[in-house]
Amino acid sequence: MVFGTRPEAIKMAPLVKAFLKQDGVFETRVCITAQHREMLDQVLEFFDITPDYDLDLMKPNQNLYSLTADIITELKPVLEDFKPDFVYVHGDTTTTMAASIAAFYCGAKICHVEAGLRTFNMRSPFPEEMNRSVTGVVTNHHFAPTMRSKENLIKENNNEKNILVTGNTVIDALLFSVNKIGNNYSDAEISELMKILDPNQKIILVTGHRRENHGQGFINICEALKSIALQHPECQIIYPVHLNPNVQKPVYKLLADLENVKLIKPLSYPAFVWLMEKAYLIITDSGGVQEEAPSLGKPVLVMRDTTERPEAVEAGTVLLVGTDVYKIINETNKLLSDVSSYESMSKLHNPYGDGKASDRIVEYIKQL
Ligand code: UDP
Repeated sequence: MVFGTRPEAIKMAPLVKAFLKQDGVFETRVCITAQHREMLDQVLEFFDITPDYDLDLMKPNQNLYSLTADIITELKPVLEDFKPDFVYVHGDTTTTMAASIAAFYCGAKICHVEAGLRTFNMRSPFPEEMNRSVTGVVTNHHFAPTMRSKENLIKENNNEKNILVTGNTVIDALLFSVNKIGNNYSDAEISELMKILDPNQKIILVTGHRRENHGQGFINICEALKSIALQHPECQIIYPVHLNPNVQKPVYKLLADLENVKLIKPLSYPAFVWLMEKAYLIITDSGGVQEEAPSLGKPVLVMRDTTERPEAVEAGTVLLVGTDVYKIINETNKLLSDVSSYESMSKLHNPYGDGKASDRIVEYIKQL
């Protein structure tokens, strides 16, 4: 099982655990590329996963050329050492794409978790659609989170018998975490958050990291958040700021001085789940958060023009607002002032699964 970023680790963790439970049936090894370092390590610690191989590839100012080349080159000895029958990759990162190519070279069967998400914009200059599509081409077993993603794979002429609709493993991770946090879980970050949060204020939780929003996008996002903070002193904006310098720079420059905006370090996964549960609404460009929030009954404004996750948009719990300053402000104002809008977007809805995706994947492989 190969992964490298925080969201991949969160979504692969339940599957790693499900495979490790099958010791004797499968021999499972975990290889991390550490495309993210700190944020990945936090997740591994929470889920109590110790990687067997750590390629430790994150470098200052890393670029996609050298990262892709390094992943393929550095995976060669790992694959030659372990000689896996199956290599599991997840989602749409550079790690996903490069690891699936390396696995193809070594002749292993490639299993793609969270397969079949598409924006159908291959001309996008951003790498995610290319990463997941290239991975899909070399994949032997596609684990699609929804019927929609299965249909996307069939449209691309993949054989239906190699596609299993599983639900998204993000819900497995979320339910595991909600349960662990609910059981007297003690966490220094949650204690710190309790000190920052004002119980009399509504919490607006913000996250953002996407390459497509770097530059003017983040400047617009910050302008909108500033205006929301000034218009709504009854609200507190809590923003765990992604470590990417393209995000850190505009956010700290434009938002650091506002009293009801709290800029904090990225949170560990349990603290973030805890905070999502406390939030009144969430503004994000994250893929994973779009999937998690509807299960917690939290409305989400997504700062993107398109999404490869249309299911919750169609269900009405997620709304695309792009990075248009006025649209972000107007839709936030609507949710803060119009009870019926808020209620219709905060209905509990879960198009992404029932928390048993990992078990389905393991059972499928057992049957082969
Ligand atoms: N997340 C986290 N700490 C944070 C912000 C997000 O653990 O401070 C989690 C969140 O719950 C979700 C995942 O990170 O599961 C999403 O990661 P990200 O937004 O970086 O990537 P994407 O999902 O867009 O690929």
